[in-house]
Amino acid sequence: MRAMGIHDQLGARKLVNADATLTRLGGSLMPQEVIAAMLDAAQYWVDLPDFQKRIGAKLAEITHNEAAFVSTGAAAGIVLSTAAAVAGTDPALIARLPDTTGMKNEVIMLRSHRNGYDHAVRQVGIKLIEIGNATATYDWELEKAITDKTAAIFWFVGWMQRAVDLPFEKVIEIADRHGVPVIVDAAAQLPPVENLWKYTNAGATAAIFSGGKDLRGPQTSGLVVGKKAFIDLLPAHASPNNTMGRPMKVGKEEMAGLLAAVERYLKLDHGLRAEYCEETVADWCGALNTVPGVTAERSFPNEAMQPLPRCHIQLDPERFKQADVLKALLNGDPPVVVGAGKNNDLYLNPMTLEPGEESIVIQQLAKVLR
Ligand SMILES: *Cc1c(COP(=O)(O)O)cnc(C)c1O
Repeated sequence: MRAMGIHDQLGARKLVNADATLTRLGGSLMPQEVIAAMLDAAQYWVDLPDFQKRIGAKLAEITHNEAAFVSTGAAAGIVLSTAAAVAGTDPALIARLPDTTGMKNEVIMLRSHRNGYDHAVRQVGIKLIEIGNATATYDWELEKAITDKTAAIFWFVGWMQRAVDLPFEKVIEIADRHGVPVIVDAAAQLPPVENLWKYTNAGATAAIFSGGKDLRGPQTSGLVVGKKAFIDLLPAHASPNNTMGRPMKVGKEEMAGLLAAVERYLKLDHGLRAEYCEETVADWCGALNTVPGVTAERSFPNEAMQPLPRCHIQLDPERFKQADVLKALLNGDPPVVVGAGKNNDLYLNPMTLEPGEESIVIQQLAKVLR
């Protein structure tokens, strides 16, 4: 028997997460098979680059990609991919990063895609070339932006995408014509599981996923999949080499854990899971609509544009203040974290819950709102 757990020892509270796979809440919870794989890997010395290579080959095979690489999170995958696009495998150039003077150092991005995670691109010392505006980007803008200094085009998928964006297929076509790699940040674009091969099959040079979100791998893992010629550039930029990626080292445990997580994810019954989410959201909405001052309805897709529903709750400002409700939920036993909207509203997300927690969430919320 284990003595007091770490949370009790430290006085740290275990949260019920009905918000999202947020890094600040711990990213994700690892299923038993992922924990087992990490535990196994933790007990043996390995030739780490060789281990990474073997894990990558297996990941590539099961995700229908030419090659794959494990990073410490999607953001690190972005850094490594950018560095690889800029400096390739030239040791003199690699050693000089993030000083990119004289290198092929321009990275093109849609202005409408700009977001906090693009810091991971910029930290490589590149020159950011923005095209388009908030509401439109045209193919001629991309054509004109490509020069002999262009290292890559970055494409972000998720809430930053607009219907008015230049179509992805068009970007691939133009990039191919100029021989420029297209790197897709699809960190939170699982589910659907097919996205693991969708972007690369559509012609992307690489696609990057977070291992610590819905894949439920280690919180500090990420997956880069793509063309072999490009993925083969990544190790030179990564730990254990003393290069750009050295502070983003990946342990044997994360590598093994991510592989187990992806294997599990490919076998999951995603239809059944979507059904569970729909039923849970319907139950929540039904219960909440009996509470005076509260209107609840299904919201779809969710905040990360994943095809799963959430329960959107509009609070009557005469009766409830969002901040008070959030605080009361967090002070409850158990503490519950839910999503906060911008307009005195809340979101309940079923995708991050452990079995049985859906009733805890609604009980705690009902307690606060009654
Ligand atoms: C979550 C996210 C990231 C970062 O992923 P990590 O695995 O936490 O590093 C990057 N880009 C986008 C669009 C994301 O949603």
